[in-house]
Amino acid sequence: MNKPLDRLKLVQQRIENACAAAGRPASEVTLLAVSKRNPSEKIRAFNKLGLNAFGENQLQEALKKQQELSDLQIQWHFIGAIQSNKTRPIAAEFDWVQSVDRERILRRLDAQRPPSAGALNVCLQIDIDNEPQKGGAAPEEILSLAAIANSLDNVKLRGLMAIPKHSYDKDEQRDSFRRVRQVFEQLKAAGYGVDTLSMGMSADLESAIHEGSTMVRVGTDIFGARNSKK
Ligand SMILES: *Cc1c(COP(=O)(O)O)cnc(C)c1O
Repeated sequence: MNKPLDRLKLVQQRIENACAAAGRPASEVTLLAVSKRNPSEKIRAFNKLGLNAFGENQLQEALKKQQELSDLQIQWHFIGAIQSNKTRPIAAEFDWVQSVDRERILRRLDAQRPPSAGALNVCLQIDIDNEPQKGGAAPEEILSLAAIANSLDNVKLRGLMAIPKHSYDKDEQRDSFRRVRQVFEQLKAAGYGVDTLSMGMSADLESAIHEGSTMVRVGTDIFGARNSKK
């Protein structure tokens, strides 16, 4: 199972199986390929195999790849920590930003998004297991951030993104994902038109899909192991 197509098919099969087990249509779950620390040529190869949404977490690295791949139709997602002095290129060059966790970033992305590009799709990152080093807003901050996002013209609130605490235990994985989904349900109940629950990675996508994920972000199991150094 070392060829790119085999790895991709395996991931797609896992998503289909998890959806079937959860009684959900496979069409409800989008696959975001996390291409960080992988070269443009590999992104190009997977794009040929039908993937068109890619996630990056380092701005400079992402901008370089976007230039190298400017001939392709790719939907770019920013999924990394956001420094406020880097919001302008993020607002201009990405289709989605999934790692928004504070008001200042929301307002800057809104102000710096070129209106001609259409509204920037935004997910609020939630720190579901109280691990501040991973980023994310506390669960009790999410509703007020959503209200701010909703008031801005150049961002469109799509939902939540979470990176729960690492665990090999399926019940623990599901417990974290379930708590994320509960906040997502609160947003819906409050009238926000959110449609994206971005949770689940290579190691835990089955648990995430069981708990309602609509977007899994998979790096390692598509691209193979990354270099540990940037
Ligand atoms: C790296 C990364 C992923 C992908 O992780 P894998 O374990 O390689 O699948 C998903 N989401 C975020 C935010 C990441 O930084």
